[in-house]
Amino acid sequence: MICEFVIVGGGVHGLATAYQLARRGAQSVAVLEAKSVASGASGGFGERGVRANRRDLRELPLMAEANTIWPTLHEELGAPTGYRRTGGAYLIDGAAQTGFKGIEAAEVYARAHRALGVDVEVWDRERVRREYPGVSDAVHGASVVASDGVASHEATTQAYAQAARRLGVQVLEDTSVASLETDASGRVTAVVTDRDDRIAVTREVLLANNTGVRDLVLRTTGRDLPLWAFYPQAMRLSSSAVPVIPMLTGHESRPLSVKVLGEELMLSGGWRGRVTPAGGQPDEDRVRGNIAVLQSVFPYLTDLEVLGVDVSRAESASVDQIPVIGRCAPNLSVAAGWSGHGWAIAPAVSRHLAETLLHGSTSPMLAPFNPDRFH
Ligand SMILES: Cc1cc2nc3c(=O)[nH]c(=O)nc-3n(C[C@H](O)[C@H](O)[C@H](O)COP(=O)(O)OP(=O)(O)OC[C@H]3O[C@@H](n4cnc5c(N)ncnc54)[C@H](O)[C@@H]3O)c2cc1C
Repeated sequence: MICEFVIVGGGVHGLATAYQLARRGAQSVAVLEAKSVASGASGGFGERGVRANRRDLRELPLMAEANTIWPTLHEELGAPTGYRRTGGAYLIDGAAQTGFKGIEAAEVYARAHRALGVDVEVWDRERVRREYPGVSDAVHGASVVASDGVASHEATTQAYAQAARRLGVQVLEDTSVASLETDASGRVTAVVTDRDDRIAVTREVLLANNTGVRDLVLRTTGRDLPLWAFYPQAMRLSSSAVPVIPMLTGHESRPLSVKVLGEELMLSGGWRGRVTPAGGQPDEDRVRGNIAVLQSVFPYLTDLEVLGVDVSRAESASVDQIPVIGRCAPNLSVAAGWSGHGWAIAPAVSRHLAETLLHGSTSPMLAPFNPDRFH
């Protein structure tokens, strides 16, 4: 098999970039996925936050662009994405624990976000109480972004896969990439699977295999990207009290992210499972810790039942908590290191990445994420 473009990883980033390449006229694009589409961080239960609120400033221009794409993405892809513009709030305690947080800083963060295209409103104590009756007395304000929302990661990733296939992209599941072959100049000439099949590459290779990127880059180029794998913890809960949580809600200084999904709550917020050779395993202390934080912010949620804990979806973290996107060798690019917030920006990242792969020049929007920043 010979391909112009080979993408490793059938998650949202690999598939969205394949779709964007095909839309721009790439003749032969293959996505090689070790298991099945959306079997990694881009799949699983619940919804993902489409959040600009308190996002790293370097990602905000991408997020502002993504916000223009999400509302009509289902029409473009011809399949549902589950996107809903719920609004998003970060609750703020009165007594800031560090100098970088707190109600004093909220308006400054808001101004910085506005300057980069994301409109933020700062709510005072009374407004928070009106919108979140029963919230803890410790909460003195909130940073609110009306354009934030949620989407179904599973549905969107499948939608990108279908749309890419319609445009002629070959999405090969159960196809794990074992190694890359290079010539004397360091150009990747072929991708080799664990069944020893060889796919010759005439133009570019993109590694979008999330937690597998570091190892393949290291073995191919000798370059060790500062990335590692972790297993984010996400929970489904039911509550006997009705939670009044009107939008995607996080907390500025407590590890909390909560969404209301019909009758259930989806709870996360930076907690993680234990890393074992068999993958992520739930850790009882962290499950209890996550629930305790929820109850510290919403003290009336006393009676909660855990319906499920998922720590099976591995994610790559980077040392500066922003992604690593760009070239590592003459025709070898990477997109990884999402650090738990790579979902929402995928529709914008994939457009810029496809342009870069097709034309060679790096989009200014991706410049902050260049792997060369570590050297
Ligand atoms: C529980 C949880 C909650 C999250 N919440 C949010 C949120 O609210 N907002 C947000 O923006 N982001 C969130 N994220 C992060 C976001 O989901 C990820 O950053 C994003 O889905 C990563 O997409 P990806 O395509 O890079 O990787 P993945 O979806 O992990 O896809 C990589 C694929 O590569 C495949 N693969 C690996 N190695 C190989 C190989 N050698 N050969 C072939 N294929 C290979 C894997 O099987 C996998 O399917 C969350 C993540 C998790 C896990």
